[in-house]
Amino acid sequence: MFLKLKKKQIQDCIIIGSGPAGYSAAIYASRADMNPIIFTGSLPGGQLTTTTDVDNYLGFPEGINGNDFMKNCKKQAERFNTKIIHQSVTRVILSNQKGGIHRIFLDNKKCIESRGVIIATGSRPKFLGINKERKFMGLGVSFCATCDGFFHKEKDVAVIGGGDSALEEANYLSKICQKVYLIIRKDYFRASKILQDNISKKNNIHILFDSNVTEIIGNNFLEGIKIFNHKNKTNKTIFISGLFIAIGHIPNTEIFLNELDLNDRGYIMVKKGKTITSKPGVFASGDVQDPDYRQAITSAGTGCMAALDLEKYYLSL
Ligand code: NDP
Repeated sequence: MFLKLKKKQIQDCIIIGSGPAGYSAAIYASRADMNPIIFTGSLPGGQLTTTTDVDNYLGFPEGINGNDFMKNCKKQAERFNTKIIHQSVTRVILSNQKGGIHRIFLDNKKCIESRGVIIATGSRPKFLGINKERKFMGLGVSFCATCDGFFHKEKDVAVIGGGDSALEEANYLSKICQKVYLIIRKDYFRASKILQDNISKKNNIHILFDSNVTEIIGNNFLEGIKIFNHKNKTNKTIFISGLFIAIGHIPNTEIFLNELDLNDRGYIMVKKGKTITSKPGVFASGDVQDPDYRQAITSAGTGCMAALDLEKYYLSL
């Protein structure tokens, strides 16, 4: 063991992650007197802090900026006295016993003990797996148009992917960049109809179907990409200053690998219609257990469910 455990207070509710699921769980857990502590992780507020406007969350008729939305979530959790700690969890030891104590290890080497744990660690974007992609992160390659789009003002950029994320990124970039190439490996979009309609109205978005990026060009920073059209069997080179990758996500479940049941894609398995995991007193909410819906509103909903499931768990002890 890498740190010495001291005898200390056992918590009722530790929440790992600070996206909509984490804060929603915190609000419900606080109001149920479970005195939750949130460990925010390395991206406080989660993925929504890097998104543009959230237009589909109920109750915001004009939409709301993702970052502002998460600040509001934090404020609301603080109003009910949730303790918010800016640290990451590096390891967990989860008890198999009903009523057992779970150990949560932090990046400052401290260990917190709790009978209840709510996991809301979310997911992270996938890489393409081609040369120079990681090397040029921040040097032209990006996962976030709102964060980095500004650097490509009035220049040409490309977005990869045909899902909602890619189309949102393309839409955002089309407002500041000269030309946006949207590169899709199939001959159809996976994105929702409304986003497809938005894209079709933009005359500076050029859609390339049946296409894969095969190479990144540039010595010290991104200068262009090579694209292969697998239908026509043709190669094409385009010169761009920014490449925005939006091809899906990987759940942040590495620290739970040997502790919880995960499915074949690495998502935490929960009991159908619940947030109950394979360990008693441990509940999972948000994207970390949801490969399908991945919406702020569904995340917040499952965060609420996790707090209620934890409350029921205590009543059953
Ligand atoms: P998706 O999994 O929906 O889409 C990923 C896209 O990337 C697909 O077009 C996929 O192609 C493509 N892709 C995957 N791997 C590669 C690869 N190696 N090379 C090239 N292309 C690749 O991911 P999203 O992040 O877009 O969305 C995830 C979920 O989040 C969805 O449920 C979505 O509805 C939701 N979401 C909702 C938003 C909203 O409502 N405002 C905003 C953003 C996300 P293929 O189809 O061939 O697999």
